[in-house]
Amino acid sequence: MCSKNMNNLVLSLAPKFTKLQTLILRQDKPQLEDNAVEAVANFCRDLQILDLSKSFKLTDSSLYAVALGCRDLTKLNISGCSAFSDNALAYLASLCRKLKILNLCGCVKAVSDTALQAIGHYCNELQSLNLGWCEQVSDVGVMSLAYGCPDLRTLDLCGCLLITDDSVIALADRCPHLRSLGLYFCKNITDRAMYSLAQSKVNNKMWRSVNGGNDEDGLRTLNISQCTSLSPSAVQAVCDSSPALHTCSGRHSLIISGCLNLTSVHCACCVRPHSAISPFPHSAH
Ligand SMILES: [Zn+2]
Repeated sequence: MCSKNMNNLVLSLAPKFTKLQTLILRQDKPQLEDNAVEAVANFCRDLQILDLSKSFKLTDSSLYAVALGCRDLTKLNISGCSAFSDNALAYLASLCRKLKILNLCGCVKAVSDTALQAIGHYCNELQSLNLGWCEQVSDVGVMSLAYGCPDLRTLDLCGCLLITDDSVIALADRCPHLRSLGLYFCKNITDRAMYSLAQSKVNNKMWRSVNGGNDEDGLRTLNISQCTSLSPSAVQAVCDSSPALHTCSGRHSLIISGCLNLTSVHCACCVRPHSAISPFPHSAH
């Protein structure tokens, strides 16, 4: 489609698709304007999946309209919509309480700790959240998420430079279903955070063995690239406690590029020397 006409096309089609459940408006060149999103929000009230990513021209008016019109949203992608404010995002969270998947990557102004507190308070079913490069985020916001969103499975905090171990410890303690965690460039993260992740998985395993659960759980993806304060033994402890984490070629699910001191960390596939120190028993896997 010629992106030049996209805004007019959406304006003319929205009234005819009142039962629409999925709308992907991803654009190479941002043409979408507030009036088109307002039309969608007014007419398409059954929408469950909405992708407005990279719509640089949109303002808070769009977000308020979506909040009022599309209360059944389960999946929203507004990554790269850098003009949205945190008031508008908090308002959306207070009305769209069924959200399960939310992509806020690059929404630098919108993602404040206040907005995250609203998400933690209202969106208790949230499973996946991308906060990549939202530099305002601090431990206050992440801890609100950890406490309010116990079903969180995927959290991307890449480039959230302010967060510390307290964020990771809260997630390890409160989010037993966490499977993917992105900490790329989170320079404040230390071994304490790694040991809390390793320990929580051990605790989960004990809990699950009592309750007959599946012991293949644990982290499946962990990105700690450029987390330069971490030591090999702490990272090895996480790797040992989550058998789905791999450093071997082709299965890079434990991503440690840029951490030159972590080259001795290896997944269970690789033969490790006996000297690898870990406070946790190796997985039988
Ligand atoms: Zn492996």
